[in-house]
Amino acid sequence: MLRFIAAPLAMMALASTAFAQTADLSPVQKNSILNAELPADQAAMKAHVMFLASDEMRGRDAGSPEFNIAAQYVASQFYAAGLRPAGDDGSYLQKVPLLAYKPVSQGSFTLTPKGKNAAPVALTFGTEYLPSADPTRAETNVSAQVVFVGYGLTAPTLGRDDYKGVDVRGKIVAFFGGAPKSFPGEERAHFGSPTTKASIARAHGAIGFITIETPAAAKARPFSPQGWDRVRMTWAHADGTGFFAAEGTPALGSISMVAAEKLFAGSRTPWATVAKLAEDDAAKFKAEVLPATLSVSLKTETTPVTSYNVAGMIPGSDPTLAKEVVVLSAHLDHIGVGRPNAKGDTINNGAMDNAVGIATLIEEAKRFKASGKAPRRSILFLAVTAEEKGLVGADYFAHNPTVPKANLVANVNLDMPIITYKFTDIIVFGAPRTTLGPIVERAAKGIGVTISPDPLPDEGLFVRSDHYRFVQQGIPSVFLWPGEGGPGKAAVEAFLANNYHRPSDELVQTPPIDWESGVRFIEVNYRIAREIADADVRPLWNKGDFFGTLYGGPGAK
Ligand SMILES: [Zn+2]
Repeated sequence: MLRFIAAPLAMMALASTAFAQTADLSPVQKNSILNAELPADQAAMKAHVMFLASDEMRGRDAGSPEFNIAAQYVASQFYAAGLRPAGDDGSYLQKVPLLAYKPVSQGSFTLTPKGKNAAPVALTFGTEYLPSADPTRAETNVSAQVVFVGYGLTAPTLGRDDYKGVDVRGKIVAFFGGAPKSFPGEERAHFGSPTTKASIARAHGAIGFITIETPAAAKARPFSPQGWDRVRMTWAHADGTGFFAAEGTPALGSISMVAAEKLFAGSRTPWATVAKLAEDDAAKFKAEVLPATLSVSLKTETTPVTSYNVAGMIPGSDPTLAKEVVVLSAHLDHIGVGRPNAKGDTINNGAMDNAVGIATLIEEAKRFKASGKAPRRSILFLAVTAEEKGLVGADYFAHNPTVPKANLVANVNLDMPIITYKFTDIIVFGAPRTTLGPIVERAAKGIGVTISPDPLPDEGLFVRSDHYRFVQQGIPSVFLWPGEGGPGKAAVEAFLANNYHRPSDELVQTPPIDWESGVRFIEVNYRIAREIADADVRPLWNKGDFFGTLYGGPGAK
């Protein structure tokens, strides 16, 4: 699961009271949990997590040798489950050419005010600007007039166009980060993403973009170079250059409010007015071509990293429908080794995130085999890499699937299902958007649980895991979590506050993983996949759905 925005912090206080007493387990207690006898189906699920979340896997960081061992494990389990290889060249593995990249110099940001004798002003690294990194080229030099475009959003269905009245072709656009709070959670998460804004800027013809510090950000923490040269990750094209969704419109960097004042020198709307307006995130700004020219130089270093997606297939039985492919996905990577916790543990084992999802995927595959009845459509089981780096392995697959792209009809994603309690409901992110909604509802009913609405709408979780990469290709997709009914809310909050992305997310954790709930989760996922694969009609977007329309998905228009 990708980083949460705010919830874990907010939940910390709430959750610590619920489960804090159950501290460390002694080795004897650990052993008794490990040795406890379980029914065969629960033991089978636990066995996968036992291996994948062991310390020897060192947190399955994408690109690490341990991740590759984990990938081989999944491939062998796919084989045991009777899946056909669906990776490269008759294997279970799809090679994923990851590309790590970062800025390697402070670069330069220089403003040239309008006027014959105006002297260029070099902005100061760290306090006035921070350079970005460009995965598409080693050196990026862009020089152009700057156009201020508010939040940088063109969102007609939400009644907003920050580009109204300006021509940004051949220019650099400057906008505030984030998206208005008035937008619905999932749309806001989508529009708040720099990639979305880059794509909008590109569609308008801009040749680069910079982000302006908001008053709220300035208040929260001072503009600082901390983390400016961190490593980012994308995937590489065949020629070795990095994929960027808005190629030709690079992220140039961010500027502080101090620098923004210089940028706005001589503008029609003074910076002070804009800054004041920006204190209200629902504010609408008037787009304006600023007088100054901005010249930006960036240097980016790239390092290729090889990793793998694991793909196995059950061929469909229906002569017509078999060519259509339902993708069931879960990410195999986690965040690797980090700083020691209070117990000196540095290994982020990623048991719940997402060894449990992978275990669900494998056991789901076995149920198809055990049923003795092949699905009508084909089902592709996909364990992806580099989710934690920004949904990169799923994005690579969605752009370069091992089956014809037009044949992909649905994605059901599993990411960090929290199974420490007896769930009475499930949450299905994306359910109200497509005809997958009623299917999931029937499946839930089949195991005696209900469907609940997204309890964390502000987190925009629908755009924060691997299925979103399929959504961006127009493919109807959902992502499931056990729900917050009964003990669920406290359990989810406790996990997010105490174990999420920490060394304590391990096989034996507090509260313990409930393997019976795990098996029920497998069952509901199996029923969903079975119904999608056997239905007469492929899944469709609901007419007019925002994401379906945006990405040209079937049924939306
Ligand atoms: Zn995660």
